[in-house]
Amino acid sequence: MPEKDYYETLGVNRSASDSEIKKAYRKLAVKFHPDKNPGDKNAEEKFKEISAAFEILKDPEKRNQYDQFGHDAFRGGRSSSQGVDPFDLFKDAFGGGGGGGGGFGSIFEDFFGGGGTSNQSEGTRGSDLRVSVEITLEQAAIGVEKEIKYQRQTSCDSCSGSGASEGSGKIMCSTCGGIGQVATNQGFISIRRTCPTCQGSGVTIENPCKACGGQGRLKSPDKVKVQIPPGVSDGNRLCSRGRGDAGAMGGTSGDLYVDVHIKEHSKFDRDEDDLFHDILIPFTLATLGGAVQVPTLQGKVTLKIPSGTQANKTFRIKDKGMPNLRAPNRKGDLYARTIIHIPPKLTKLQREKLVEFAKASGEEDLQADEGFLDKAKRLFD
Ligand SMILES: [Zn+2]
Ligand SMILES: [Zn+2]
Repeated sequence: MPEKDYYETLGVNRSASDSEIKKAYRKLAVKFHPDKNPGDKNAEEKFKEISAAFEILKDPEKRNQYDQFGHDAFRGGRSSSQGVDPFDLFKDAFGGGGGGGGGFGSIFEDFFGGGGTSNQSEGTRGSDLRVSVEITLEQAAIGVEKEIKYQRQTSCDSCSGSGASEGSGKIMCSTCGGIGQVATNQGFISIRRTCPTCQGSGVTIENPCKACGGQGRLKSPDKVKVQIPPGVSDGNRLCSRGRGDAGAMGGTSGDLYVDVHIKEHSKFDRDEDDLFHDILIPFTLATLGGAVQVPTLQGKVTLKIPSGTQANKTFRIKDKGMPNLRAPNRKGDLYARTIIHIPPKLTKLQREKLVEFAKASGEEDLQADEGFLDKAKRLFD
């Protein structure tokens, strides 16, 4: 798994200016952003590569190091007093790092922010949070504003997010010796992980803030108003940028993802923008014709039933479905399906009239349908 040249990844030449690098990154990041390519592993991989490249090239100091030492500049081994880079050991053990079954990849991510931990000057990006909200089909049809209450890590007021009590400075992390990584030895293999004490920053606080225990952040209740657009479907996800956990050490905040769930409706089934409803009509109405009231999300409408309407006949009521999420002026339709109601019991008068009807229908008609004949015979008994 040879690492790609960062300049090549961003499609710029080695003398590119900062603004050219930024421009190239933005263009590619938009194109390959996971939100734009859901489920596309290649795009996700590409996005990570672009981000990793930009992380280095946007910073003049890191870019300089990269120009001199290439990818080795960021493996942390140069400051090791032992003169042995555990990372290289790891690579040797796996013949270049390709067969690590994800091990190599995840370490790489730890370095460059893919795993949630970023480098020293950037701080740590806050976690993304996920909440869900339940709405009715009626609310989904017209859109709704929902206030969501949730817990998130916010910057500590006492120390303004620094994690240090007043006047306290930073000291080198004693766990990792300032490297930001610790190695675990397993025989000949040495595996590097982000240092748990300093979270990869390489420094710790001399006198931690008492309010937040040196974390610079505190879990606290928060609320956010979310506009749920008309036409939203069950399982749609909205994103509120920057409303996730606050970052640590000056890192950016994560995002808040809101999963929308739509309660099942007692009257309507939904398929994308169309709605479906069963209407129960008396067999006499189906036979003679007439009109019925059909419920819609905007009140009842009158539907004309032609004489001789059969069971399971579907009527389309135009534009009474859901608005389209992307074009709310475009509406789906409501499909009303007839269920014919056969009375389970008859009064004496009803029975006489039906017998008369059966007689009027004539013997020949009755024989045309065995089922109907049996029913008619029972009526004659
Ligand atoms: Zn450390
Ligand atoms: Zn604090």
